[in-house]
Amino acid sequence: MALTGCCPRCGKGKAFGGMIAFAAQCRVCGLDLAAFNVGDGAATFLILIVGAIVTVGAVSLELSRQPPWYVHVLLWVPLTLVLTLVLMRFAKGLLLALEFRNSAREGRL
Ligand SMILES: [Zn+2]
Repeated sequence: MALTGCCPRCGKGKAFGGMIAFAAQCRVCGLDLAAFNVGDGAATFLILIVGAIVTVGAVSLELSRQPPWYVHVLLWVPLTLVLTLVLMRFAKGLLLALEFRNSAREGRL
């Protein structure tokens, strides 16, 4: 569910309206996706995870091969962008699924 970006209630409709933005509601079952607010939770995870991957990768490459500086730029800048965008969708889908399972909502009972 988190991987495919589907609605946490019916599993058929799409939870995402765009690349990393949620839709207002599920088109299939009408679940109000706007009631869930994952906020910056996904971004926080990604800063830690992507930051660790890229930092460890860059340091070990430098220590083992000592490539010219532009190799690092060409390698790590695109990798960081791609990893962040791909994992952002996954992380937001995961947080949405967790909030749905645990009935965590904002401003409504
Ligand atoms: Zn649905």
